[in-house]
Amino acid sequence: MSDGDLSKLNIASQVVAAGRPKKRPDGELNPPIALNSTYHAGGEIGYGRYGNETWSAIETAISLLENGKQSILFSSGLAAIAAVFEILPEGAVVTSPHDGYQGTMELLRQHHKSGRLQVNFLDFTDTNSVISSLSKTQMLYLESPTNPALEVIDLPKLISAAKNAGCGVVVDNTFATPINQQPLNLGADIVMHSVTKYLAGHSDVLLGSLSTNDAPLHRRLLERRKYGGAIPGPVEAWIALRGIRTFVLRMERAQSNAMELAKRLSKHPKVSRVRYPGLPTDPFHNMAKSFMKGFGAVISFEVDGSNEKIDQVCAASKLITYSTSLGGVESLWERRRRWSTESTSIPENLIRFSVGIENVDDLWADIEQALKKVN
Ligand SMILES: *Cc1c(COP(=O)(O)O)cnc(C)c1O
Repeated sequence: MSDGDLSKLNIASQVVAAGRPKKRPDGELNPPIALNSTYHAGGEIGYGRYGNETWSAIETAISLLENGKQSILFSSGLAAIAAVFEILPEGAVVTSPHDGYQGTMELLRQHHKSGRLQVNFLDFTDTNSVISSLSKTQMLYLESPTNPALEVIDLPKLISAAKNAGCGVVVDNTFATPINQQPLNLGADIVMHSVTKYLAGHSDVLLGSLSTNDAPLHRRLLERRKYGGAIPGPVEAWIALRGIRTFVLRMERAQSNAMELAKRLSKHPKVSRVRYPGLPTDPFHNMAKSFMKGFGAVISFEVDGSNEKIDQVCAASKLITYSTSLGGVESLWERRRRWSTESTSIPENLIRFSVGIENVDDLWADIEQALKKVN
């Protein structure tokens, strides 16, 4: 099918059909792993840092999923984010959440400290205070649900207010994924992914992407990859595209596991708070329901006990991996404040739990036995 025909399909079909080579007798079903540092002269690519057939295949797929005209693959999610900040002029004002993904927050703190950018770190659950900052902002950086506080930000309202104020909007859509929200449809200028997480989905590659409908913006970002040099490996790009084939299946299972485990965790006597926007009692449930199709597969929960005891809970799991990261087929968890760069607004006793696709009762049995470490 042509890319135009694919755009009419459901996302579950798009992930299977996108980014395939053109049909011809004995043609390949899958794109090649294009291992070339250079090309015969006279064509469009020219050199291995400028383009690659395998990148193009996965970029086509991500564009389709995010309903964007163009996407650019980077060597990691953070490389993609770094490129976004690099296109801003010296001294530009960025408004950012105070407790988003710690890598992004640290990068912004460094840009702020060096004076390259002026960053307003705000509480994005306070929609009006973000809106009142927009007249002095060049770029609004959004992440929702936030990592790891799982706050759902009013994307429709903030994106439209930012566009009215003439301010650029970037959304990190890693947690929600295009199954649950498509920020370009809400008017965002750039959607970013840590492809490392749900899109690739198997904890075996690091990659990032930027998608946009704005052709001049696309050219500027492409230049940042070309001259910044943060290019992905063709093997990683191929592996991630293979992962995308099952992205919808994996996400559906992981989300339904997460919903069930969030319910069970909220009844557990040693758990003082569960953050999951799918729970009707969650403070962000109504906001999430108003514009998201699903609630994602990360649960953050707080356990009564010392940091040491909570670290012991994480280490005591057998099926669930004690590790950082998220979005893979395997469930994993960690106490986030074990990292010194994690925002101090995140409680010390918060465990971020990336729910995988295992059997839900096996996962629950593992959680129950691990929680016995706190008494
Ligand atoms: C992991 C993550 C990133 C960074 O991506 P990498 O691929 O690790 O560089 C950015 N944003 C969010 C929300 C993430 O979870």
